[in-house]
Amino acid sequence: MKLLSFDDFQIGVLRDDGIVNVTSVLPDIPRPLQCYRMNLFIEEWDTIKPEVERLAKVGLAVPVDSVRLLAPVPAPRKVYAAPANYHAHRAEMAAGAAGTEAAAGQHHSGEFGMFLKSPSSVVGPQDTILRPYEDRLIHHESELVLVMGKHGSAIPLADSLDYVFGYTCGLDITVRGPEDRSKRKSFDTFSPTGPYIITADEIADPGNLEISLWVNEDLKQHAFTKDLITDCPNLIANMSWVAATEPGDLLFTGTPDGVGEIKPGDLVSIKISDVGEMSVPVKARTGPNPERD
Ligand code: MN
Repeated sequence: MKLLSFDDFQIGVLRDDGIVNVTSVLPDIPRPLQCYRMNLFIEEWDTIKPEVERLAKVGLAVPVDSVRLLAPVPAPRKVYAAPANYHAHRAEMAAGAAGTEAAAGQHHSGEFGMFLKSPSSVVGPQDTILRPYEDRLIHHESELVLVMGKHGSAIPLADSLDYVFGYTCGLDITVRGPEDRSKRKSFDTFSPTGPYIITADEIADPGNLEISLWVNEDLKQHAFTKDLITDCPNLIANMSWVAATEPGDLLFTGTPDGVGEIKPGDLVSIKISDVGEMSVPVKARTGPNPERD
């Protein structure tokens, strides 16, 4: 099943003929909390699933272009991310950054750690990436994103995929430079995700997916998730040991090689086999920069 958020945090099922609104399966939520509706929907999934499936069959669909798509989880409580999680990307970063990131080699699953991106950097498939600097290197990173389904602390490796609600496409937009990752990757609009969540039952193995990214017409990144250094089960086990998962949390699994600059006017397109695809434009961010003004 493909689930998405649209308009004022409504929830829909994407069918071939359009979107069926299934928001009514949840009780009303006060307006200030409606941005968290998808988190609640995921948390209640086992209870509401039969009614969602029924509505998805019998409901009337509206055309996709008649709504505004939001990030499928518009307000995740946490956005975990894996640093440099493909060997070829580690090699290109080491080559270009004077060895500041260690070369690939023997490792255990926790070696490369994790970082957090600001949840407020999350935007959707119809939003725009805003470049905060004219004169700094800002890169695209194409990533498989896990949408976590349940509360879980120190999730056992063998059970870890049971905690995944579904999958979506993600762009981990990054300013290159000396500052902490949490700044360089947390600017507003730096985590486009979407266009929908495909539920975990439809993805037999997240370690057997193909990722491609284009800037305009040019293929820049092409890789397979079987080449992840730390695979999805180990990422979940490691990260949930640090910070417990909550329904709707996003987990960016890391980018393959081929990262490169995005500039105002570019269109960045990501496609993940069996998961989905989206294209997001890039513009310059306007307004003051307190670091410089
Ligand atoms: Mn990344």
